[in-house]
Amino acid sequence: MKSANALMSSLGTTVFEVMSALAREHQSVNLGQGFPDDKGPEEVRAAAADYLLNGHNQYPPMMGIPELRQAVADHAKRFQNLEVDWQTEVLVTSGATEALGDCLFGLIEPGDEVVLIEPLYDSYLPMVRRAGGIPKMVRLEPPTWRLPREELAAAFSDRTKLILFNTPMNPCSKVFDRGELDFIAGLCLKHDAYAVCDEVYEHIIFDDRQHVSIMTLPDMRARTVRIGSAGKSFSLTGWKVGYITAAPELMKTIAKTHQFMTFTTPPNLQWGAAAGLRLADSYFSTLAADMQRKRDRLAVALADIGFAILPAHGTYFVTTDFRPLGFNGTDDDFCRHITVEAGVTAVPVSAFYDEPVRAPRHFARFCFCKHDETLDKAIDRLGRHFRP
Ligand code: PMP
Ligand code: GLN
Repeated sequence: MKSANALMSSLGTTVFEVMSALAREHQSVNLGQGFPDDKGPEEVRAAAADYLLNGHNQYPPMMGIPELRQAVADHAKRFQNLEVDWQTEVLVTSGATEALGDCLFGLIEPGDEVVLIEPLYDSYLPMVRRAGGIPKMVRLEPPTWRLPREELAAAFSDRTKLILFNTPMNPCSKVFDRGELDFIAGLCLKHDAYAVCDEVYEHIIFDDRQHVSIMTLPDMRARTVRIGSAGKSFSLTGWKVGYITAAPELMKTIAKTHQFMTFTTPPNLQWGAAAGLRLADSYFSTLAADMQRKRDRLAVALADIGFAILPAHGTYFVTTDFRPLGFNGTDDDFCRHITVEAGVTAVPVSAFYDEPVRAPRHFARFCFCKHDETLDKAIDRLGRHFRP
C-alpha cells in the first residue's frame, strides 16, 4: 500500500491528549490541558439549549449566522474600537483551530516563508508546513520572554508571506506590549507581509494590562487577520466556536478554505456564542479578575512548595521551573513523575518548541482556570509529595 502523507504520519499525538489520558489513567488532578472546570455563563448555555430545541438545526449560512457575525463586529467595536463590516469581514469557524487552518491554507503558497515565535501553540507548525510554508523561527527567552527585535527583523524578508503569533501567549503567558506590536507591524509593512494574530485569550489578561489587537495599529487593518474563540471567552472549550475578522479581500480566500474544511459550525452554538459576545462589560472584567485571582492562588502556593514561578500576564497558564525542587530529569519526566507519584498533571513546555531536544527542559506549565477546590487539592498533593 502507498504511504500516507509523510509529514502528517510523522507527527506524534498532541501533548494535551497524551497528558489528559495519563491524568485519567492515574486519576490525577489535571492541570495540564487548558480547560476550565466551571460550566460557563448560564445565559450563554441557555441560549444554545433553547436554540437546539426550538431553532433551525439545519445548515446555517456558510459565513456563520448573522446574529453571531454582528455580535463579533460589535464586540470588536466595543473592545478594540474597530469598525468591522459583519457581512464581508467576519467568518465563523469550528474553533480557533479551524480558523488557523483556514488562514494558513488560504494564504500560504508553497515556498512562502512564515515567521513564527517560539514557544508556540502546538498546531501552528504542522499546519504551516502542510500548507507548504517554510517556518522561520524566532525564540523568546525566559524569564521575560521579551521580543528579540534584531532576530525578528532578520527572520523577515521579502519572501515572508505572514507572521503568525499569539497574544496573550500560550504557553508562556506573555502579553505583547504596544512597542513590540509596533515593531512587528513595521516589519509587516516593510516586507508586505500579513499578520495572523491568534487572540483567543484577549479577555484573559491580568494586572490592568489591556489587550491590543495588532489590527488596530496604523496601516495594519487591511493586512491583519484576527482570530477569537468562544471556548476561551466563555469557558466553553468543548464548543469549538471561533471567529475570524479580516478585510474583505483577504476574507474571500479564507472563506473559500473554510467552505471545504467544515463549511459551517453548529447553529445553536453560534447562537449561544452571540449571546456571550453581547454580555455586559462586567462579565468580561469579572472573567479576567477571577482568572487573575486563580493565577495568584496557584502561583503563590507553588512558590511556597519550592517551584520558581515565571511571570504570567494572561492566559490560563503559569510556567514553573522545577529545578529548585531538586528534580534532575527533563520536563517530560517531571510531568509524568508528578502525575504518577503526586496525582497532579502539568504539561512539559518543550512540547511547544519545534525541536524539543533543543528547547529548555526544566519548565512545567500548570493550568489555573479551575475551581478553588481543584487548585487546592492539587496544591495539597504537590505539597505532600515535595515536602513530606
Ligand atoms: N490558539 C491557542 C493559543 C489556544 O490555546 C487554543 C486553545 N487550546 C486554540 C488556539 C484553539 O482554540 P479552539 O478550542 O477554539 O479551537
Ligand atoms: N489550548 C489548550 C491548552 O493549551 C488545549 C487545546 C487542545 O487540547 N487542543 O492546553
